[in-house]
Amino acid sequence: MPEIQKSENGGGAKALPSHAKAVIIGGGVVGCSILFHLAKFGWKDTVLLERDELTSGSSWHAAGQIHTISSDPNISRLQGYTIDLYKEIEELSGHSVGLHMTGGFYLASNKTWYDYLKRERSKARYMGLSQEFISPQEVADRHPLIDPKYYIAALWDDQDGDLDPSGATYAFAKAAKVHGAQYFTHTPATKTIQRPNGSWDVHTPRGTINAEHIVNCGGLWAREVGQMQGLNIPVQPMEHHYLLTEKIQAIADAPNRLPCGIDYEANIYFRQERDGLLLGTYEQRGTPWKVDGTPWDFGHELLQPNLEQIADRLEFAFERIPVLGEVGIRQAINGPFTFGPDGNPMIGSVPGMTNYWCAVGVMAGFCQGGGVGLTMAEWMIDGEPSIDVWAMDVARFGDWATPDWGTVKSTENYERRFVMTFPNETLPKGRLQKTTAIYDHLLAKGARMDQSFGLEHALWFANGPEDAHEAPGFERNRSHDYVAREVAAARANVGVIEVANFAKHEFKGPGARAYLDGILAGFVPKPGRVTLTPMLTEKGRLYGDLTVACYGAEHFMLFGSGTMQEAHRRWFMRDLPADVRYRNVSEDWHGLALSGPNSRAVLAELTREDVSAAGFTFRDTKMTYVAGVPVILTRISFSGELGYEIYCKPQYLRRLTEAVELAGADKGLRWYGARALMSMRLEKGWGAWGLDFRPDFTAAEAGLDGFINWNKEFIGKSAALAGKQPAKRLVTLTLELEGIDVSNDEAILHEGAAVGYISSGGFAHHVGRSMAMGYVPAELSAGGQKLEVEILGQMYSAEVQSAPLYDPDGLKMRS
Ligand SMILES: Cc1cc2nc3c(=O)[nH]c(=O)nc-3n(C[C@H](O)[C@H](O)[C@H](O)COP(=O)(O)OP(=O)(O)OC[C@H]3O[C@@H](n4cnc5c(N)ncnc54)[C@H](O)[C@@H]3O)c2cc1C
Repeated sequence: MPEIQKSENGGGAKALPSHAKAVIIGGGVVGCSILFHLAKFGWKDTVLLERDELTSGSSWHAAGQIHTISSDPNISRLQGYTIDLYKEIEELSGHSVGLHMTGGFYLASNKTWYDYLKRERSKARYMGLSQEFISPQEVADRHPLIDPKYYIAALWDDQDGDLDPSGATYAFAKAAKVHGAQYFTHTPATKTIQRPNGSWDVHTPRGTINAEHIVNCGGLWAREVGQMQGLNIPVQPMEHHYLLTEKIQAIADAPNRLPCGIDYEANIYFRQERDGLLLGTYEQRGTPWKVDGTPWDFGHELLQPNLEQIADRLEFAFERIPVLGEVGIRQAINGPFTFGPDGNPMIGSVPGMTNYWCAVGVMAGFCQGGGVGLTMAEWMIDGEPSIDVWAMDVARFGDWATPDWGTVKSTENYERRFVMTFPNETLPKGRLQKTTAIYDHLLAKGARMDQSFGLEHALWFANGPEDAHEAPGFERNRSHDYVAREVAAARANVGVIEVANFAKHEFKGPGARAYLDGILAGFVPKPGRVTLTPMLTEKGRLYGDLTVACYGAEHFMLFGSGTMQEAHRRWFMRDLPADVRYRNVSEDWHGLALSGPNSRAVLAELTREDVSAAGFTFRDTKMTYVAGVPVILTRISFSGELGYEIYCKPQYLRRLTEAVELAGADKGLRWYGARALMSMRLEKGWGAWGLDFRPDFTAAEAGLDGFINWNKEFIGKSAALAGKQPAKRLVTLTLELEGIDVSNDEAILHEGAAVGYISSGGFAHHVGRSMAMGYVPAELSAGGQKLEVEILGQMYSAEVQSAPLYDPDGLKMRS
């Protein structure tokens, strides 16, 4: 537990209040930004507790470089918001943030990085961010210390620059005070105890505050603050170096401040600091700091620099900015800051806990802190953020994301800070965290695996393990022909795919039907049937695209996105009535899905049930036996073929698999993976959760309003009614191109202007077309509409399709 070193109160001489609407634990840039936003949006009665002085974690020694680029478009948007906010908090607080809007460039030293930047520029087009390509000579004109011969192009962004990290943190805190909030320094939270009414007692050496909500913004101590509540947060502080040079005469003589920059290949960033340079490095082997826990007495301290560790990055830097090799190093900074497993923050309401929030693992706090504060305040006050923040949602990790796994993945992420991840690339660290009983069997069949919500699943199948490899890249790769083979088998004969990674939620009890009727927008089926239904937020935005099954008057199951399972658990637990029992049973039900005209014949050999077309009709479901093991059998398919999902307890999966393979041997059965499934659903024009269906869109925009039961009350109904004529719509496109497909987030253009973006796409193997889905203005959404899609800087013709290219009437699925 932290000891109080001093008793001085940074928030004034006031005593600690006994009650607050919200208590924020941690006065780094993130906590202070949340304090500011909560107070600004009306929660004046909010208190921040800081164990030492403000900025006493990683915030005080940050390099202070700010930029908008992020792998996730909505995070980019929030980074843009953060940067725009600095002027406002400076004015309001009267505290300088030391902002220099120099502009900055992202340097491409080879074609791959140039392609990457073209993708970024395409995203920027529809997000309205101002980015433009400049030549190496223009780079040198704007920053004469850079040797342009190493680069082929650069993306210039006006919104980049740098600031004073300490000044920015204080400006947030003081601006929050102007709005009525309070902060107390030298006031560590030592214990957090929840009362039966859901509120929290936050103990400090200066007294206890009772708060409706608490927010863990512990930064370097996020793990320790979480552990006060038995919460194990998979973040890891990492050592990080930057160097400050002695005076560089050319800088001292320059009329303007130099722009800042990022060199991706070198994994370095740099900017002007006083009349020298600041150079930051992300080395190839990161060093996790204090794996077992951050000491409470760690304060305004730096770590011992280790220049050996960053020598390979320095070599790049000295070559590309030659003056760095000539001038002395004034100071080498090595400081820790916290990374999350995928590099993005972990924010929001913690699943399974009431009124407990976190905003941790914010690795680029000065680029993202404002956006994180905005999102948290919207979420806490309005019940939902105004844009989809799935990429930052704490619920994207479950209990499988253990502290050990967190350290391994956070380290991997640190090492890949500016390293590109290609659309087809699978990351190597932290694998085999969760596997199913047939993992080895699928590997032996040639499965190329990836990890989703911690679980290994097959992407595609090669000709055996030796053959299961592909090079990361933007273009179509060697998996293309193998996926084609899988699609052909499923369309002509029968394909089998493992479906362990779908989520399954169980509801029981006398109130279950009424409860589901209220939270689901669609029809809740009668016993023995399944329906498809959107689930909406109060504001009418999509929060789920689910299959709901009924097994009796008081027994229902929901099947949905595997990665959303914790987010959905959080949603279901919010106001669960006393007469409903809910469990996330995803790990209790693994299974297989059969797709294709021969799937009925395979199934018929394995069950005593009548599975004839009339005996087990489309959308029937039953708890029964297949291959002699207990299963949930449902007639449904995401491939557009006649198909069945067969879920069994994990201990039966191997037996079920052997039996399915045996029965399918003379019926053309072939394994298929996630890529074949995504290809088949494209030619059916079906969207996928997390890509085409997300909380950014309403049911009407996504074309899911046809599944709504308007004759009942449900969450989001009034917003859905008001939004029946949406301004934008999801469309399916065919594209004219060869050798490459979309890889999501590309701009869609009409008459040269960006009008929308691609939400998913790829090659539709059966119809032999490159296809995509994306959102465009409603007036451009009619079948036959000609549009363009920008892929790696090239414009390709696209045409809106009015009907699915495969089996438009759904006859196969219902056969
Ligand atoms: C060398 C270096 C360079 C960097 N460069 C950049 C950059 O150029 N751009 C950028 O955007 N980011 C940069 N960062 C990252 C940035 O510093 C972090 O993202 C940011 O500081 C995270 O802020 P935070 O508020 O989450 O955490 P922290 O700054 O760690 O703040 C957490 C606070 O919580 C307090 N606390 C913890 N436990 C308790 C408790 N029990 N009770 C009360 N208070 C508690 C701590 O004292 C601390 O003040 C850099 C970091 C380093 C180390």
